[in-house]
Amino acid sequence: MLPGEGATGDTAASETVNRDFIRDIVAADLAAGRTKAVVTRFPPEPNGYLHIGHAKSICLNFGIAEEFGGQCNLRFDDTNPTKEEQEYIDAIQRDVRWLGFDWGSNLFFASDYFERLYGWAEDLIRAGKAYVDDQSQDEIRLNRGTLTEPGRNSPFRDRTVEENLDLFRRMRAGEFPNGARVLRAKIDMASGNINLRDPVLYRILHAHHPRTGTAWKIYPSYDFAHGQSDAIEGVTHSICTLEFEDHRPLYDWCLENLNVPSRPRQYEFARLNLTYTLLSKRVLTELVRGGHVTGWDDPRMPTIAGLRRRGVPPEAIRDFVKRIGVAKANSVVDMGMLDFAVREALNKTALRRMAVLKPLKITIENYPEGQVEELEAVNHPDDAAAGSRKIKFSRELFIEQDDFMENPPKKFFRLSPGMEVRLRYAYFVTCRDVVKNDAGEVVELRCTYDPATKGGNAPDGRKVKATIHWVSAAHSVAAEVRVLNPLFARPDPGGAENFAADLNPQSIEVLPDSRLEPSLLDAAIEQPVQFERQGYFCRDRDSAPDRPVFIRTIGLRDTFAKDVAKDAAKGKAGG
Ligand code: ATP
Ligand code: MG
Repeated sequence: MLPGEGATGDTAASETVNRDFIRDIVAADLAAGRTKAVVTRFPPEPNGYLHIGHAKSICLNFGIAEEFGGQCNLRFDDTNPTKEEQEYIDAIQRDVRWLGFDWGSNLFFASDYFERLYGWAEDLIRAGKAYVDDQSQDEIRLNRGTLTEPGRNSPFRDRTVEENLDLFRRMRAGEFPNGARVLRAKIDMASGNINLRDPVLYRILHAHHPRTGTAWKIYPSYDFAHGQSDAIEGVTHSICTLEFEDHRPLYDWCLENLNVPSRPRQYEFARLNLTYTLLSKRVLTELVRGGHVTGWDDPRMPTIAGLRRRGVPPEAIRDFVKRIGVAKANSVVDMGMLDFAVREALNKTALRRMAVLKPLKITIENYPEGQVEELEAVNHPDDAAAGSRKIKFSRELFIEQDDFMENPPKKFFRLSPGMEVRLRYAYFVTCRDVVKNDAGEVVELRCTYDPATKGGNAPDGRKVKATIHWVSAAHSVAAEVRVLNPLFARPDPGGAENFAADLNPQSIEVLPDSRLEPSLLDAAIEQPVQFERQGYFCRDRDSAPDRPVFIRTIGLRDTFAKDVAKDAAKGKAGG
């Protein structure tokens, strides 16, 4: 870690929260005594890494538990063994913890409930409320009907309880191949809600499950597992995204028709959508498998692991989630909102350093050869406690190529022939001469400095219009800097079907010859730092000991903040 840097962020609990319709429901249930102690859960399926959309659900579920003195369970919804892996189970736990949330001892797996779920399925059969259907998947789909047409009863719908029990037990025993039979609830094939047209409760699947191995040959559907798992855990408020709204009648039907230990209620909120981003695990999986990114934690990915590697601090994600709020109508959030939250968080904590991304050598002709001076540079302009550091100044320096123009336009105040600028923390320098290579490219500037301006001020009161950053050539370290841009080139990447066409070919820009002030060699992986005038960066784990790699988390430019300020001035809400 850099000196003066504390642990990242404060805890999630110490931040205040917005009110929203779900929190209002919880508060009302507690006030009316309908709920004694609130229990929520975050129920990821371990078939991929968590993304920023999941962060919204995590902040909501864990946040409510914290604010109302309740409990939030982390429950893996591991009912589909063909897509689930231990790697994802581990990554999800790491990411929830990193976001700042703690499930304590309340770590659960739907697979722990397989035996009880199975028992409840038999109960439904005995009550004449479930049957084994031998129709193929296609037949079941065909006979389900449409939004305008009722479904058709299965020819197997009126099997006797005995026959159903026998077949279901043999399904469990592994007597039948995949797809041969399913267990269905017997509800109403004419229901206006297609989810109630005899939904599938169990399917045959001969597959290896990460936790139960080959013990099970049948697996419960999401609809049969979820509500009952909630009931087993005493979940009071089962909060999920809007696509489950039409499943709620089935959620309730199961709970009402089974002898479950508690009666949870389901509430739905709008999922997070972000511009320039796709938040579907299926698409993210394809990005990884197709080699479009280097992995789930590629810093261009909208995954929690990717954002962490990019240098985004957890408090920025929590703050972003708070700003967007919780609503019941789907919408797309501007990526600028996330960037804004990231800059807000980083501006507070990131120490300032100097780094030259695209170096141009300058020689100070009147500075003595071999002389080295130590100058004082502050670590954070708004935080005196962050202290200062010494930086070395010498005759040969690097400045940013972009800070020089041979034939500048009118408003260009940085370095150009004859122009004087301030070198941050150092001296005023004036450009005297331009050295070019055979190709006519500028390769070096010959400058002079004014020794009387040490520290950056002239005793005669003369002003300069620009302050530029620099590093000492002999005392800087070579580094690779990777500037990241959005993974997709379109604000509305082309839908899940053709996302590859919308990938941004400029999503990563590699600057192989950057020069850093040497204190950056001490930066820890993922620790945010501000390169003055450039943006926020962090050291990446691709670094070699003598050749660090830094990633740009985000630039300094903040047009979104200006928009927010403009809106606020107009009397609109800022988010
Ligand atoms: P997919 O991304 O493929 O649609 P999923 O996101 O539903 O899958 P789960 O692991 O089931 O994957 O999600 C866990 C929880 O996170 C669920 O309660 C789900 O509603 C919630 N969630 C998922 N995506 C979002 C999102 N974009 N915004 C808010 N909550 C989300
Ligand atoms: Mg899901």
